[in-house]
Amino acid sequence: MRLRWLVAVMLLSCGIVNAQQVDLILQGGLVVDGSGEAGRVTDVGITGDRIVFVGPKGARTAKREIDATGMVVAPGFIDPHTHTAGDLSAPARSRNDAYLMQGVTTVATGNDGASPLDIGATYAKWTQQGIGTNAVLFIGQGSVRHEAMGGDFDAKPTDVQMARMKQLVEKAMQDGAIGISTGLYYSPGSFSTTEEVIELTKVAAAYGGIYDTHMRDESSYNIGLLGAVKETIQIGREAHIPVMISHIKALGADVWGQSADVIALIDAAQKDGVKVTASQYPYDASGTSVVAALVPRWAEAGGRGALQRNLTDPALHAKLVSEMEDNMRRRGGPESLLMTASRDKSILGKNLAEVAKERHESPIDAAIQISLNGDSDVASFNMKESDIVAFMKQPWVMTCSDGSDGHPRKYGTFPRKYHEYVTEKHVLTLEQMVRSSTSLTAETLQLKDRGLLKAGYFADVVVFDPKTFRDLSTYEQPKNLATGVKYLAVNGTLAIDGGQLMDVKAGRALKR
Ligand SMILES: [Zn+2]
Repeated sequence: MRLRWLVAVMLLSCGIVNAQQVDLILQGGLVVDGSGEAGRVTDVGITGDRIVFVGPKGARTAKREIDATGMVVAPGFIDPHTHTAGDLSAPARSRNDAYLMQGVTTVATGNDGASPLDIGATYAKWTQQGIGTNAVLFIGQGSVRHEAMGGDFDAKPTDVQMARMKQLVEKAMQDGAIGISTGLYYSPGSFSTTEEVIELTKVAAAYGGIYDTHMRDESSYNIGLLGAVKETIQIGREAHIPVMISHIKALGADVWGQSADVIALIDAAQKDGVKVTASQYPYDASGTSVVAALVPRWAEAGGRGALQRNLTDPALHAKLVSEMEDNMRRRGGPESLLMTASRDKSILGKNLAEVAKERHESPIDAAIQISLNGDSDVASFNMKESDIVAFMKQPWVMTCSDGSDGHPRKYGTFPRKYHEYVTEKHVLTLEQMVRSSTSLTAETLQLKDRGLLKAGYFADVVVFDPKTFRDLSTYEQPKNLATGVKYLAVNGTLAIDGGQLMDVKAGRALKR
C-alpha cells in the first residue's frame, strides 16, 4: 500500500502522470509548423503558455479539446513592420484587433526611423496596461536625430550631437530594443550620411541588434533603388549587423523591372556573408502622404515653419513646381494618388486629378494647397505585379503590413497574401506563405522560442478556415476586419474563440 503511494507521488512529481492531461488540444487540423515542411493532419497540445506536443494526442486528455478538422493550424503570424506603437499605448486600442483578426500574435513597431525615445518606459507601460498581441520595439534613428539636433535636424551633427545620439541608442538597446530602424527617405533621416548611419548602427550591433530600413530611395528620387540597396548592404557590412529592408518594392515606372537586379545584389551580398532579409506587403499601392510623395526634401529643411514658407515663397515657386511635377510623374500621375485620411474630409476617396478638377487648378497647385492645409495620407498606386511576385518568391522575404490609417493593409495583409497569392494566383504554397509569416520573421527579429509549432515553444497559434480566410478591407473601407480565423492563442490564452474576439490582452512586451 505504502509502496504504491510512493510510486504515485514519484510519478506525479516527475510530471509523468500530469503529462497525460494538458490544458488545450487542437485536434485533427492540417498542421503547418512554420518551418516550410509539408503540412500534416495531426494534433497540437498546449499547457500554460507553451506548446507541449505536436503529433497524435494518443492517450492524452485536455481540459478543452477543439476539433480543428478541415482547418489549418499554424504558428501565430509575426509582423516585422507596423505602426502600432500608438495603438498599443492607448488602452482603448491596445488589444490590437486589426492584427488579431488576421492571425497575428506578434508585431514589431518603431520602424521607418520613428519610435518612442524611451524604450524601457514604453515596454513597462505595455506590460502594466496589457496588450493584445506580443510586441517588440526598434529605436528609431530619425527620432534620435531629432532629439539630439532639435531645430538643426537638417545639418551635419557636431561631435557632441553624435555622442548624444549614440548614448540614446545605447540606452534603448540596454532597455531591450531589438535593433535600430531608419527612414532615410524621410526627413530628418534623409539628411544623414551613410557614414553617420554606420557609426550609429554600430552601437546597436554591439548589443546584438538588427538594422531595419526604409531605404533612402525605392524609386528614382535621389540615389535610385539599386543605389539604396547598395547603401543598405554597405551599412550591414561595415556595421557588422544583419539588415532588413522594409517593404521591399520597385516604386514607379522608372524602376519597374529592377526587382531582378535588386534580388541579384542581395543574393551576392548574402554569399559574401552579409545577412540581408526584406519584408513586403501584398498590395500594389504604398501608403504615404502628399508631402512625403511629392514635395522635395529641401522644402522641409530649415526648421519649424520652413515648409509653409518654402511652399509659398514666390522665388522658389518655379523650382518647387518643376520638382513636384517630376515626382508626380514618377509615381504614375495625379490619378494614381488617392486621398485616404485628411483633416479636409471633402477630398477623401478622390484622387489628386479629381481634387484638382473640382478646384479648377492644376494637380500641383492642389497638392501644394493640401500640403499647406495639414497634408493628407495617400494610397500611391506605383507597383507592378511582376515585381511584387518576384520579391515574394524569395526565401528571405517576410510578410509585413506596414499598417497605417487609410490603407487596407493594416487590416488585411496576412489573409490577403494567403487568399490572393496562395489560393488564387498560386505564387506561393501554403507552407511557404506560413514560413514567410512566422519562423523566418522570428529568426530575423531574434525572437526566442517563437515562430514554429514545436514542443517547448510559446503557444502562439492560429487556427483558420482555408475556405474563408480572407481580407475584407478595401481602399474605400480600410478598417473592415479580416475573416476566417477561428481560434487564436497568444501565449496559450485564446484571444479569438469560435471566430469571436475575447476580452483578453494576453500579449507581452518582448525585450531582446
Ligand atoms: Zn516605411
